[in-house]
Amino acid sequence: MHPHSTSLLTISAIHPMIRSMFSENSVFDTLIIGNGLAGSMLAWQLIQHGQKIMVVGDESLPSASRVAAGLFNPVTGKRLVLQPYAETVIPAAVTLYRSLERRFGQCFFHEKPMLRIIKGRHEKETFEKRTVESDYIPYLGTILPTPALVNAPNGLFEQRKTGYLDTNSLLDCLRDYFIAQGFYHPFSFDHADLNVTSEGIEWRGFKAARIIFCEGFMAKENPWFNWLPFQPAKGEILSLKTDVKLPEKIINGGKWILPLQNGHFKTGATYDHNLSTLEPTDAGKAELIAGMQKLLTSPIEYSLLDHRAGVRPNTLDKHPFIGLHPVRPEIGIFNGFGSKGSMLIPFYSAAFADCLSKGLPLPPEADISRIAYG
Ligand SMILES: Cc1cc2nc3c(=O)[nH]c(=O)nc-3n(C[C@H](O)[C@H](O)[C@H](O)COP(=O)(O)OP(=O)(O)OC[C@H]3O[C@@H](n4cnc5c(N)ncnc54)[C@H](O)[C@@H]3O)c2cc1C
Repeated sequence: MHPHSTSLLTISAIHPMIRSMFSENSVFDTLIIGNGLAGSMLAWQLIQHGQKIMVVGDESLPSASRVAAGLFNPVTGKRLVLQPYAETVIPAAVTLYRSLERRFGQCFFHEKPMLRIIKGRHEKETFEKRTVESDYIPYLGTILPTPALVNAPNGLFEQRKTGYLDTNSLLDCLRDYFIAQGFYHPFSFDHADLNVTSEGIEWRGFKAARIIFCEGFMAKENPWFNWLPFQPAKGEILSLKTDVKLPEKIINGGKWILPLQNGHFKTGATYDHNLSTLEPTDAGKAELIAGMQKLLTSPIEYSLLDHRAGVRPNTLDKHPFIGLHPVRPEIGIFNGFGSKGSMLIPFYSAAFADCLSKGLPLPPEADISRIAYG
């Protein structure tokens, strides 16, 4: 139990006035479990709606958001598939990140074009087909000359509206803000301690109209939502430094290189449904180094700064899991952002906040009512 809560409970048991203050201060509209990108952004949106919220997060638990490179890439895969609703989701994300940047006086979202290496004739034909499709025009550039260092025997083209979110800086700012407002408790939440009543929920002296779980891949263990078809995928990622001058654009050829400042860069990512270990592995490191060197015409010297692993909360149908429990509407979930949290979470957190505060309908593709319960 968090030390603050122990002392408040003890004091409130002694002094009736403090007890009434404590109980009033412990009643919330929404209790949010998890302070990755999903929980933090949903909390932020609900605060903008005037809700009284409390975020419960245990930073010693794994967090995909703390590992992710935060890449923003609307057109992905061999078939160059455009993110569904890209025309809505992307402006929503950029607008929200820019408003958070103004609020906190820091840059979080960095626009950066991407050089997409063409794998072969088939991929080139797909690119040529896509470039004349009106939906794709804002996101696909032209074939560009290959920079000297990049290994692209079949050529490359530019992708637009790409970039990366500095997820750790944003999460640090939001957590510090929640702490300053008294909206954050660094607890580990145990589902067995939750009481659901006709008036809402109660957890360790905290009462709320509802609780929303934003636990990332750990939702598999959540007794109210373990029927949702998650397909978690582990990923590893490296942070490196080199004296070689890399292109300033992101290089993407399956594995990717994200150039940062002063010779720093990231490379990733592995993709594995085997969760037998959540730790970074030697095999993962070897795969990433080989993949990174293969993107370049000749091997570069580098120093390894960091090697991290996390688990993406992927879903079977590749859409998020958002909504209230079909039998216990005091309990909800905001999860399933897979490999695209930085692009999707702003739009869907705004939509869920509208749903929770104003009763507006959820986007149907993300609403958990699409999944049969039981
Ligand atoms: C290697 C890798 C690379 C990635 N690259 C990208 C990328 O380039 N671009 C992109 O958009 N996305 C990327 N992703 C995916 C992205 O990280 C996720 O979509 C996003 O971070 C999911 O956020 P979340 O808040 O749902 O989950 P998480 O970040 O995992 O957050 C869940 C939080 O819940 C907390 N929690 C869980 N259970 C409890 C409990 N019982 N009590 C208290 N707290 C609890 C955890 O501490 C954690 O902080 C990547 C993921 C990985 C692993």
